Amino acid sequence: MGMIRCETHGLTPLIMTSPDLAALVKKRLRDAEAEIFSVLYVYLGTVAMAFYPSKDFADAHSLRACVGPLPDELDEWSRETVPCCARCFERAFGGEFGNDHQWRRAR
Ligand SMILES: [Zn+2]
Repeated sequence: MGMIRCETHGLTPLIMTSPDLAALVKKRLRDAEAEIFSVLYVYLGTVAMAFYPSKDFADAHSLRACVGPLPDELDEWSRETVPCCARCFERAFGGEFGNDHQWRRAR
């Protein structure tokens, strides 16, 4: 995970998400309903890149939730994803990122 400067959280971990979810985070929603996919790429035994698109974005780009090897070149869809504060994202959608980088909705 890289870092981002968030107005609320200061210097904080960033995640990459789809523009539709990023727009919801900007509205400062709390525990909003959203189906979120974890698309994780592993390099040298650890998750090197992680994307958290909405189901709509995933469907539009024929993406599936996966843990796979880092491709030589990322697909076109990855350029449409945007950086977002991980903590704001967790708050907006009522879940958390696990140590395995998987998104989990809290019960
Ligand atoms: Zn934040």
